[in-house]
Amino acid sequence: MNVSRRSFLKASGITLAAFASGLGFDVAAAKAQGYALKLEGCTKITSICHFCSGGCGMLLHIKDGKLIHLEGDPDNPINEGGLCPKAASLQQVAYSPDRPKQPMYRAPGAKDWQYISWDEAIERIAKKTKEIREATFTKTEEITNAQTGAKETVTVNRAEGIAVIGSAEIDNEECYLLTKFARLIGTPFHEHQARI
Ligand code: SF4
Repeated sequence: MNVSRRSFLKASGITLAAFASGLGFDVAAAKAQGYALKLEGCTKITSICHFCSGGCGMLLHIKDGKLIHLEGDPDNPINEGGLCPKAASLQQVAYSPDRPKQPMYRAPGAKDWQYISWDEAIERIAKKTKEIREATFTKTEEITNAQTGAKETVTVNRAEGIAVIGSAEIDNEECYLLTKFARLIGTPFHEHQARI
């Protein structure tokens, strides 16, 4: 939970005031007050978690263009306010300093990773894809005819050395293109991250 110095001091002041007034310490009230202070001035918008295909609803609280807080949307019929740990930590997708934002490359045998440009990364991926596809491509396969029992050679055109993995982090249009790409290069191995 992010608590700004200002919010913390404000909440502390409220707690001290409660003690001073002889009312004792009401944890629920203090929590509610802290929550209200944290979200003060925020715009609330609804969104959908994109980690898996569950489609859980979220409430996002935004202030000055920054995500301050997120929680499950109690009005969403799928999750009714609940969120799994992946979604609960979604804020880090946007703000974690550990999140890689540039392609990285580790040369064969090397210990360390190095940053490379997007152009270089795309060039390397394209070259490797072509190289692996050509080295592992299966054009035909021998099968046994179920009716006659005779051996037959059939065309299969499979790129067996390549697998494509989808992601819940990509949108419908990107999924469409990725699927097209998988069919185009001929890989029979096409999976989704959420199923692994
Ligand atoms: S990752 Fe968790 S919160 Fe997100 S859609 Fe899937 S189950 Fe729901």
